[in-house]
Amino acid sequence: MATQENCIFCKIVAGEIPATKVYEDEQAVAFRDINPQAPTHALVIPRTHVASLDDAGESDEALLGHLLRVAARVAADEGQAETGYRTVINTGAGAGQSVFHIHVHVLGGRRLAWPPG
Ligand code: AMP
Repeated sequence: MATQENCIFCKIVAGEIPATKVYEDEQAVAFRDINPQAPTHALVIPRTHVASLDDAGESDEALLGHLLRVAARVAADEGQAETGYRTVINTGAGAGQSVFHIHVHVLGGRRLAWPPG
C-alpha cells in the first residue's frame, strides 16, 4: 500500500502517531481533527497516500466515493444526519490545504455559514 515518508496522515494510518479514531475499514480511516472548527470535526482519509483531489486519478474514483460514504456514516454516528453537516475537501495551499494527504472534513454541531471564508 502506498505510503509517503514524513506524511503525518500516513503515520496516523500506520499507528505511528496517535489520533482519536472514530471509524476505520480496509480503505479509510476517520479521526477527530486536532484543532476542531465545530463541535463535530472529523477527517476521513484513505489508507493509501493520495496527496490531493488534484492527484486523484481515474483509478481512485471508487475510493473517492467511498470516502464520501464514510463521511456520511461518521456524521450520522456523531448525530449530525438530521440537523445537517458539511463535507469539505481543501485542494491546494490557496484553498487552505495544509496536509497533503487527501482528507474530507466532516463539520457539524453548529450553524455553518455560507459562503465559507
Ligand atoms: P487542511 O488545512 O484542509 O489540509 O486540513 C488539515 C487538518 O488536519 C487541519 O484541520 C488540522 O487541524 C488537522 N490536523 C493536522 N494534524 C493533525 C493530527 N495530528 N491529528 C488530527 N488532525 C490533524
